[in-house]
Amino acid sequence: MADEFMAYCVKEKAQKPMKDGHEVILKNGKHAMQGVCASCGTKMMKFISSKKPTPAATAAPVADPSSEPTTTPPAPPSPPPAPSA
Ligand SMILES: [Zn+2]
Repeated sequence: MADEFMAYCVKEKAQKPMKDGHEVILKNGKHAMQGVCASCGTKMMKFISSKKPTPAATAAPVADPSSEPTTTPPAPPSPPPAPSA
C-alpha cells in the first residue's frame, strides 16, 4: 500500500494504519480523514490540514557558511537633490 495513513486508534491507544480512509470536511470547515483501524476495525478519524504548506515556503533559508552575510548598514535616506541654481 503506497499511501498508508496513520491515525490514532482509541481502542488500542496507538498509531495504527487507517483502512478505507477518506477525506471528509466537517461542519466547521476542517478537513479530516475518516476510516477504520486496519488492526481492530475501530472507527478512527484524524484531522488534516486542508492546505499543505509548500516545501519551499516552510524550508528555512540555509545559511551558507562560505558566503558570510555581510552586515550592510541601512541605506541612508536619499540625499536631497542639489539645487541647480
Ligand atoms: Zn485499532
